[in-house]
Amino acid sequence: MKGLLLALILLTSCGAAVPSQTPKPAEAVQTPAPPAPKTVDAARLLEDVRVLSADAMEGRRTGTQGGAMARAYVARRFADAGLKPLGASFEQEFRLPVGGEGKGAGRSGVNLVGYVQGRTHPERFIVVTAHYDHLGVRDGVIYNGADDNASGVAVLLQLAARFGVERGERRPENSIIFAALDAEELGLLGARALVRRLKAEKRALSLNVNLDMVGRSERGELYAAGTHHTPALRPVLERVAARAPVKLLLGHDRPEQGKDDWTSQSDQFAFHRAGVPFVYFGVEDHGDYHKPTDDFSALTSDFFLHAAETILDALETLDAELASARKLKRDG
Ligand SMILES: [Zn+2]
Repeated sequence: MKGLLLALILLTSCGAAVPSQTPKPAEAVQTPAPPAPKTVDAARLLEDVRVLSADAMEGRRTGTQGGAMARAYVARRFADAGLKPLGASFEQEFRLPVGGEGKGAGRSGVNLVGYVQGRTHPERFIVVTAHYDHLGVRDGVIYNGADDNASGVAVLLQLAARFGVERGERRPENSIIFAALDAEELGLLGARALVRRLKAEKRALSLNVNLDMVGRSERGELYAAGTHHTPALRPVLERVAARAPVKLLLGHDRPEQGKDDWTSQSDQFAFHRAGVPFVYFGVEDHGDYHKPTDDFSALTSDFFLHAAETILDALETLDAELASARKLKRDG
């Protein structure tokens, strides 16, 4: 984009080669402020969510062929981003409990987990999560789950591409784990398995950033939940909100809000229960929530792009902040 702008300026200069009576001094030339650096690849973002929410993925239910296809796609994109597996491979399999909601979903789920090593605090981990599973096919109808949660996975892939490339200027201060989680819809099972594993490996987990439903909002509103539990996150996210291209609101995290308290409603809850601070990015439920009409065509693409830019800014800012900070203190 920047290159194109430069080319246009050069073309304009050539056009101005006609002799001019009063050449202007260089400092008087009014040039527009340079556009903010493009940090999100909009075309790629939309392509990822389109592929992941296509009928071919059959609703990405845990243990199904569609789920495996989605996983293969995300694993390729992890490798493209330059992420390293946190174990023998990106795939981390876990057992599903017998019966209950897991019935018919197969006997195991598979998380995809990659990471990039931090340059200042390689031993400290920020864990970015987004679940890739959805509801599958019910009575012959495919539930594509474009917003829930192909949107979050597509943003996760943008974040991974930003930090995963082994270039000095983009390496994060802290190590960052990127996890596309399975079996969220069956009770946050992938998140629980990942937290168990990271705890067993004695990793120092400083923060979870969870993305679940970030692709549509008619009002242009994105929520960041979690500051009620970790007030130290508030001023950092307020700085991000002040310059965000979406309306970034803090909230949906107080126990007295009842069902509007989102603390336990997505994968961040597994981290919260383990004492790890979290920021959960998401939108309020819409008419297509958990319906077969949660399709790619219903996403609000401008908002989606702006949400991705906001979340990227938040992750970069939180990474920088955590590098200088003592451990984040949790209140509740
Ligand atoms: Zn979800």
